[in-house]
Amino acid sequence: MPVLHKYKDKEKYYVLTSISGKIVTFQLTGEGHEKLLKSGIKNEERFGRALLFDLYRTGDAFTHGAGPGKVEGVDKRQLLFDFPDDPEPESIFPSCSVCNSINDLHLVEVKDKEHFAGIYCSDCRKIRSSTINTSIPLPLINRGLLSRVLEMNNIQKTDKSLTEYRKLLDTEFVNRWEEIAKTKSVKKSINQNRLFESEDDQGSLL
Ligand SMILES: [Zn+2]
Repeated sequence: MPVLHKYKDKEKYYVLTSISGKIVTFQLTGEGHEKLLKSGIKNEERFGRALLFDLYRTGDAFTHGAGPGKVEGVDKRQLLFDFPDDPEPESIFPSCSVCNSINDLHLVEVKDKEHFAGIYCSDCRKIRSSTINTSIPLPLINRGLLSRVLEMNNIQKTDKSLTEYRKLLDTEFVNRWEEIAKTKSVKKSINQNRLFESEDDQGSLL
């Protein structure tokens, strides 16, 4: 499960999670961090992949170059083995159609022998740059924009990664934010009630 972390030297937050046995760092926008805070998720706390994915697809969480090597002060062994089961599989996150990397993904329009749209990482974009016509950072792509790009460029085919991602963009995740905020506030009110109860007890003793 993803874990929220704060950079030691600045008021910025990032998320670490494990995908395909590798630790992946997701940077957060200010808005992304706000959303997590509002749901009651605090620094060093775990949360569901569905939420991270939702931040990803709205552009509030993104991977960009910062590999696990740049994360300091984190026990990597603990990270690798300390992720309990999550209802959402790791495969919820999109990956490069060619090499499966999830680093710095773009939606690309490829004009080679075939004309199609897909998802490429930065390395694969470099290698195949001569066949790429359009390239847009994936976190900027939403459902409507994707449909428009496909229609305007008359793209009939999407590769496996993009087809999967498109399906996930169509899934409704909004409820999960509400759910998690609800469970958090329920926990809080239970704790508050306990506090009141103990005060009452004291009252009756006096
Ligand atoms: Zn790649």
